[in-house]
Amino acid sequence: MEVKGLLKELMEFPGGEQILKCIQCGTCTGSCPMAYVMDYGPRRLFALAKGGSIRKALMANTYWICASCYFCTVRCPRGIRITDIMYALKRLAVKNGIFPSGEKTPHLYLAFKDTVERYGRLSEAKMMQKFALKDPFGSVKKGALGLKLLMKGRMELKVEPLRNLEAFKRVIDKAKELERAS
Ligand code: SF4
Ligand code: SF4
Repeated sequence: MEVKGLLKELMEFPGGEQILKCIQCGTCTGSCPMAYVMDYGPRRLFALAKGGSIRKALMANTYWICASCYFCTVRCPRGIRITDIMYALKRLAVKNGIFPSGEKTPHLYLAFKDTVERYGRLSEAKMMQKFALKDPFGSVKKGALGLKLLMKGRMELKVEPLRNLEAFKRVIDKAKELERAS
């Protein structure tokens, strides 16, 4: 089987290559406690990804809904690390900007990444400011909680960047360069 494009990219993430071992037995979907709210269960998701419809698979909510309970993984007769593939699909989706339009979690991932890249560490306040741009209504609702955390000193508005931020950024740049070259 020739593997190319997004499927090839998926297979380059740890555990991603195991998707080709799937025999479509359905044990995973039958075991999944979240299957009832998924667009497709894991079995069908893998069938789409392997069968040339990986964009359709990425547009499903399945891998964002996955609760990482590992139930499917321990029961798969082929020993496929299904939960790891769910993580790999998240990385692939965020990297390529292909995910369901109403899904907010990818934007939270991006806000986390941008904050860490900018300051060398996580700042919840900065991350939530970035995320608020993508989810203004939800953020207004959570604003009261944020205010409480600030007043109790559990969250800081000011960020103390990493002491050697330039060296950290060089590491990130190098990692991106290596990723582009791979
Ligand atoms: S349990 Fe394993 S082999 Fe069976 S459908 Fe799911 S991933 Fe494929
Ligand atoms: S790890 Fe995810 S896909 Fe697997 S059974 Fe749990 S919720 Fe379902």
